[in-house]
Amino acid sequence: MRIDAISIFPSYFDVLEVSLLGKARLAGLIDVRVHDLRDWTHDRHRTVDDTPYGGGAGMVMKPEPWGEALDAIATDSESRPVFIFPSPAGEVFTQAKARELATAEHLVFGCGRYEGIDERVFDYAAELGEVRLMSIGDYVLNGGEVAVMAMIEAIGRLIPGVVGNPESLVEESHEDGLLEYPSYTKPSLWRGREVPPVLLSGNHGAVDTWRRDQQVIRTRERRPDLLAD
Ligand code: SAM
Repeated sequence: MRIDAISIFPSYFDVLEVSLLGKARLAGLIDVRVHDLRDWTHDRHRTVDDTPYGGGAGMVMKPEPWGEALDAIATDSESRPVFIFPSPAGEVFTQAKARELATAEHLVFGCGRYEGIDERVFDYAAELGEVRLMSIGDYVLNGGEVAVMAMIEAIGRLIPGVVGNPESLVEESHEDGLLEYPSYTKPSLWRGREVPPVLLSGNHGAVDTWRRDQQVIRTRERRPDLLAD
């Protein structure tokens, strides 16, 4: 998969060189290309923002650098890209959407800053590929970089070969609409706290039943909205 990220703070993405995604890049499973939006400006100050039409607080990202950035990346693409613009006003990014996006050939992430990007950019991007505005939750960040990092990690780990044992991806929270069961490792007694005896019993059927029950109990306690769904 090819992933492009456009940002005015490209160094946010330096951490993509470490851990599993770093290894996946070295192995050629993911081709990540990070771009500085200011490279597509043409004035001395490399300006990417301006005051909003209609007045109001804050600045808005200018359409011109975005248009040139999207043109350059789309022209250089071997497929029709999926453009993902992080936005608190977007559809909510979920595990199911991560799975769907993990099958794409080329994802392009456009990180907003200030009050966001001039709305016409999304309309224009739709001429070049599919456009998705995606929120990582009901809160507001200063910029799209952290949201994009979260999405790249959630999507990237679903690409075959990135996570060593693919079975570990199947039993996770949100894969079957429930939260994951609690996990324990050695020692069986730690600071007066015991591991649930069923996990030491060697009875795989009983372990499966216990884990399923725990998933339902946890989900009911912490995320009743998931059960309602
Ligand atoms: N004025 C915008 C609004 O109220 O919808 C918020 C702009 S926010 C300060 C700047 C940028 O941060 C956004 O353009 C987006 O890229 C990113 N951002 C902030 N919160 C986000 C969230 N919950 N999910 C995804 N991206 C977010």
